Amino acid sequence: MSGWLAIAGLGPGDEALITPEVTEALAKATDVVGYIPYVARVAERPGLTLHASDNRVEIDRSRHALEMAEAGRRVVVVSSGDPGVFAMAAAIFEAVEVGPAAWRALDIRVLPGITAMLAAAARAGAPLGHDFCAINLSDNLKPWDLIERRLRLAAEADFAMAFYNPRSKSRPEGFAKALDTLRQACGDARPVIFARAVTTPEEEIRVVPLTEARPEMADMRTMVIVGSSRTRIITRDGGPIVYTPRSVPA
Ligand code: SAH
Repeated sequence: MSGWLAIAGLGPGDEALITPEVTEALAKATDVVGYIPYVARVAERPGLTLHASDNRVEIDRSRHALEMAEAGRRVVVVSSGDPGVFAMAAAIFEAVEVGPAAWRALDIRVLPGITAMLAAAARAGAPLGHDFCAINLSDNLKPWDLIERRLRLAAEADFAMAFYNPRSKSRPEGFAKALDTLRQACGDARPVIFARAVTTPEEEIRVVPLTEARPEMADMRTMVIVGSSRTRIITRDGGPIVYTPRSVPA
């Protein structure tokens, strides 16, 4: 039997948000590869080997997955959310591009998932109803100056913005700087959504004006969405609805 490699997204947390396509690939797999907490979401069963590794070894993990597929195994590499969004799919293709020619002939498929940004937006209403951008606030893989520049330009373009990886213990200052930059660049009271652990039992959603947003409101399990100048809030019992109208008048 010939091997294959599926790069799959497990969605934001809730099992109901895993696609049937991903469930089917996991059911056929001989090996599951990924970051420890994501692999922990896959049920053990006879005939399935789980390979959990630390977060900082994405290229080693990619090579390992490709080698196993080349050797005839049925391998699923798992990411949370969508595998193409700040996750393993690009890491695999970086390895393919510089790897042995045989890897280009492998059966490699990317199986999409519901990314955290969309799950968070859905909880708040429709903050991404008009043009928006997504920015990873971690400076592990790019210089901080580039993040600052993108924040300023996104504010100037009046995009709603979705931020992944807003704040970690190893980079506590970055998000505070990002909020300062946004306050300077946006200069008004845009709504900020802090959506933590969306679709899990620990879910928390908080909406505050940009002027009141504090760095401590985010951690590594939080998605932060900042509205555009057009974003609206509908107040009601049981939490506000935040949405961005689909049109901008001429
Ligand atoms: N591939 C993933 C993103 C990986 S980056 C996806 O498509 O969702 C990891 C970041 O995603 C976290 O730091 C956090 O900002 C966000 N995230 C992932 N799951 C989340 C959840 N359930 N609730 C809120 N944010 C989440």
